Amino acid sequence: MKVIRNPQKLNRILKRISCERKSIGFVPTMGALHLGHLSLIKKAAKDNEIVVVSIFVNPTQFGPKEDLKKYPRPLKKDIELCRKSGVDFVFLPDNKTIYPYGYSTFVKVEGLSDLLCGVSRPGHFRGVSTIVAKLLNIVGPDIIYLGQKDAQQAIIIKRMVRDLNFPVKIKIMPTVRLADGLALSSRNAYLTGEQRKEAAVLSRSLSLARSLVQAGACDSSRILGRMKEMIRKKRQARIDYIEIVDLENLEKIKKIDRNCLIALAVKFGNTRLIDNTIINHA
Ligand code: AMP
Repeated sequence: MKVIRNPQKLNRILKRISCERKSIGFVPTMGALHLGHLSLIKKAAKDNEIVVVSIFVNPTQFGPKEDLKKYPRPLKKDIELCRKSGVDFVFLPDNKTIYPYGYSTFVKVEGLSDLLCGVSRPGHFRGVSTIVAKLLNIVGPDIIYLGQKDAQQAIIIKRMVRDLNFPVKIKIMPTVRLADGLALSSRNAYLTGEQRKEAAVLSRSLSLARSLVQAGACDSSRILGRMKEMIRKKRQARIDYIEIVDLENLEKIKKIDRNCLIALAVKFGNTRLIDNTIINHA
């Protein structure tokens, strides 16, 4: 496994590999790797001859009051995990290489970026789409692997790849959860003991929604009401949003009469957690 910091160098090596008709799978991350990231890496290793993982805490996707500075960066451990998981190249650029002095080019997927998480995190998805566009240009993968955990991010990247004709396939892998249902996230490390216990309510509320739909419920406001009631019972939970939206355009839907996404963001103290589930309409 090689750790490469220079984008031109990585690009040169990977172009040569592509010419040999070896397929390249790419997993972009911000590090603090957990089993969620590793499930993407494993899938990439299964599907491709070469696996590239990027570790970059992307400053342009953090708001001024967000956790950029304190975001966990256990670099040694991450590199070891990559080595053990069959990664061929770890791309580890620094801020100045990615955003040199005078950097002024951004990619924004209009519309989709301003909904759901985009409301309380303005600029977040512009940062995400910009870094993913840059990484796709540097790595040139055949397949990029993303997690369903960040459903809106995956939908936005899909749209960007289509709109800007990036020659890459996208695979979205299921959310990896802990035993009580909490979705793995690097930010779980911020939770206190009480918050950690309470946070399991998020996946339980999504399961409740799924069972209500299965039992025939289709009125979004009723389903959302039941979910909110369940979450509000937790002392430290503060709901940012819970919405039922169209899977393609992320617009709110009143009735579950098509495939949709139930997505939520809830704060426990200063830690904002997200989770979601897809409802396939019969
Ligand atoms: P991050 O390091 O948070 O930027 O995440 C990097 C990639 O891992 C993204 O595509 C995430 O959606 C994915 N990911 C994060 N948590 C999980 C999880 N619990 N299960 C599956 N994929 C995940």
